Amino acid sequence: MDQEFHQHLAVLLVEDTPRDAQFVTDLLQDVEDTAFAVTRCRRVQEALERVRTESFDVVLLDLGPPDSDVLDVVRQFRDGGGARLPLVVMTGQRRRGLGQEVLQLGAQDYLPKDDLAPAMLERVLLYAVERHRTQRRLELLSAAFNSGQGVFITDNRPRIIEVNRAFTEITGYHAEEVVGCNPRVLSSGHHDEVFYQALWERVHRDGQWAGEIWNRRRDGEIYPQWESISAVSDVSGEETHYVSVFHDISEQKRLETELERLASRDRLTNAYNRHRFYEYLDQAMIVYKRHGTSFALVMFDLDHFKHVNDRWGHPVGDAVLREVVHRCNATLRDTDFLSRWGGEEFLVLANHADEDAAAVLAERLREVVAATPFPTVGPVTISAGVVVVHPEERIEKLQERVDRALYTAKAAGRNCVRLATD
Ligand code: GH3
Ligand code: MG
Ligand code: MG
Repeated sequence: MDQEFHQHLAVLLVEDTPRDAQFVTDLLQDVEDTAFAVTRCRRVQEALERVRTESFDVVLLDLGPPDSDVLDVVRQFRDGGGARLPLVVMTGQRRRGLGQEVLQLGAQDYLPKDDLAPAMLERVLLYAVERHRTQRRLELLSAAFNSGQGVFITDNRPRIIEVNRAFTEITGYHAEEVVGCNPRVLSSGHHDEVFYQALWERVHRDGQWAGEIWNRRRDGEIYPQWESISAVSDVSGEETHYVSVFHDISEQKRLETELERLASRDRLTNAYNRHRFYEYLDQAMIVYKRHGTSFALVMFDLDHFKHVNDRWGHPVGDAVLREVVHRCNATLRDTDFLSRWGGEEFLVLANHADEDAAAVLAERLREVVAATPFPTVGPVTISAGVVVVHPEERIEKLQERVDRALYTAKAAGRNCVRLATD
């Protein structure tokens, strides 16, 4: 017996027969290893009062007159606020199954009154305290288990053995549909074997992994979740269970994408904005300086666009700008970067392009726009200037040169492409 731990135990004895009360009190005084402080009261109502105002470790409830309904008394005590203390029920009755019914009502133990002995009574009370404590812990853990995040637990085969409410809310699967299944039922096919191998290596090595996983809901929708997986090991160190905690991050992702779009794109045409272009240009410069891979800029501007606005109005002009961007983007390669430089002026950064390639690209854009049948407005043309980056060139210089090349194209009569000559 752990002397230190179990030295004092405050017992509330609910017993209406003074003789029986004295008998139980005497028994408890005879116990050697535990000091019991016994407080006695006669009725359940009085017991509930005392439980509210005083501090006890355990309640020992005798059920009084033999004809009173044992179960009713236990219920009365439990529902009146007694449930937060461990309860041991004593009775003179011997009805079969009574003990079990008493336990089902939440009591920790049940004792027939006629075979009491000090050591046994001590053990019953101590165990009742332990059992109650464990039950409370389980109740708390269960509350934590159901607070918000999705959780599922697998054994090491692995099969799902437990899921919580949020799991069902997020995945659409009810417990009975997935318990016993391999967690593979949730996988979307989005990740390859290498991904899962790395994940499990991490779990085995560090005991846990956390990251983003794309899973599939019951209705087929694929969505991202942030998940952490922890290994649970037994005393010998063998992994026996895995606990996965996760939450849906699809809304967060959508917002991120939307913010990124707002920050980097022009609202009217959805082309990249000037801010984003500068970032891209800086990147291209760095790559150029490090690896010498040259790039080119094509600047183009709509010809006589003022007429379009004057004649058809601004909204029609806007529609033309959107259509020009749409057609140009459809023509460009993935490695070309189209941005709206301002008004009706656009700048394309063509990666890995020498002068010839850039000239071809610019000419193609000119042709595409010229061949587009714009509703209401009819034909629209563009003029374009082309430059290829020089060794050691500063960005400002590059821009000036492409501006001049465009100006030359305008001066040459528009609807044409001109290469920078400087
Ligand atoms: P040029 O051939 O010399 O380029 O003649 P242009 O008339 O196109 O002259 P410029 O390039 O100076 O014209 C810019 C015009 O573009 C002026 C402005 O009304 C129009 N513009 C600029 N931004 C927008 C816009 O967002 N929407 C519309 N509808 N028009 C715009
Ligand atoms: Mg113009
Ligand atoms: Mg202009």
